[in-house]
Amino acid sequence: MVITTEKPALLGGSKVFPEPLPRYISISSQETEAAIQVLKSGILSDYIGAAGLYFMGGKQVRTLEEQWAKYFNVRHALSVNSATSGLHAAVIAAGVNFGDEVIVPPQTMSATATAVVIANGTPVFVDQEETNCCIDPEAVERAIRPRTKAIIAVNLFGGPAQLLRLRELADRHGLILIEDNAQAPGGQHQGRWLGTIGHLGVFSLNCHKTIQCGEGGIVVTNDDHLARRVALVRNHGENAIEAENWYEDADIVGYNYRLTELQAAIAQVQLQRLEELTQPRLKIAEALDQGLSEFKSLRTAKVGSGDRHVYYTYPIWIDPQQAGLSRDRFVEALQAEGCPVTGRYVRPLYRLPLFKKLQQQGKTIVSHPTGVCPIAEKTYSETLLSTTLIQIPRAIDLVDRFIASVAKVLAHAEELSQGKDE
Ligand SMILES: *Cc1c(COP(=O)(O)O)cnc(C)c1O
Repeated sequence: MVITTEKPALLGGSKVFPEPLPRYISISSQETEAAIQVLKSGILSDYIGAAGLYFMGGKQVRTLEEQWAKYFNVRHALSVNSATSGLHAAVIAAGVNFGDEVIVPPQTMSATATAVVIANGTPVFVDQEETNCCIDPEAVERAIRPRTKAIIAVNLFGGPAQLLRLRELADRHGLILIEDNAQAPGGQHQGRWLGTIGHLGVFSLNCHKTIQCGEGGIVVTNDDHLARRVALVRNHGENAIEAENWYEDADIVGYNYRLTELQAAIAQVQLQRLEELTQPRLKIAEALDQGLSEFKSLRTAKVGSGDRHVYYTYPIWIDPQQAGLSRDRFVEALQAEGCPVTGRYVRPLYRLPLFKKLQQQGKTIVSHPTGVCPIAEKTYSETLLSTTLIQIPRAIDLVDRFIASVAKVLAHAEELSQGKDE
């Protein structure tokens, strides 16, 4: 353990990280080359919004999808222009319509729940597990009602929700399990790829994620009919219904959720580099696990055997009583040292003005069968923080200084707490 007697930066000491940390960039010359080839071809997108081969996109899009399906050992992979679009398509594919309820976790990126709203469904928020901030299967089971159609589980921060339990529960009740796997490509639960345990799984390729093409997403499923429905949502499906004799899906309103050839070519390279881009995160996370285990007031993600966490971001939980320091003051002091940390990872979504307004208007009733979600509330306001130290080109050599910052701040907890009241 690094011992330090130095003053925290917040109390006038010198910063542990005086220099700004490098920005997260995961694009190499391989992606640049792939993009240039597509530009040279002049074909930047190759979809046609009508029945026929190009209803499913051009060469780069279809190659990406074949590679994705093979990599994750799943029957269908359909690219879309964002995970938000993918979630919307998945919710529609699941058959959600006016009055149907979808059970969702409260502490996640807003698109997990807005995807339900834009499909005319009602998001029903249930609480999460304290250990991993993922949806609690018992809370899910209690919330199932006659109008429940689907469950969305989020593999938050890159670690698995209890997907096998949730899948069993969904199958037993005739519901569709959708995995929002935006944050966890390459993660596993009981030896199976995250994103492939639900009936549908949605990946993100936006610029913050481990692999990316600027903006983009992939929907995976082993079910032929669900895959077709996603394809109809993605590309003006109403134009293909008659020619293909798909009348049972005539309810679907199609959008333009198409990924371009340029993005698909970049995403192909990123998929090939997934493991290479994941390894540095795991190394830094392992060093953080070890360094932070010295502090009794801090807890890090527990990864079950057979599971694999891929650390989209690295979560840390503080026990403020034991630390003698509030989470917010802890974060403030670490930020003053130059550590890349944030507290308050998304407010429980039902507290957003949107959901309050919808409720007032009576258009969509966001129900909370268990009242508020006490674990999500406590996690949000008192215990959770996270760091992006795991993002390349940030490297393992920064970990010692991160741990030194934590040691310095916790050693001065009393002074820092008092400082707040002055
Ligand atoms: C990033 C993210 C999304 C949205 O992804 P986009 O590709 O930007 O639409 C959805 N859910 C979660 C959990 C995310 O982290």
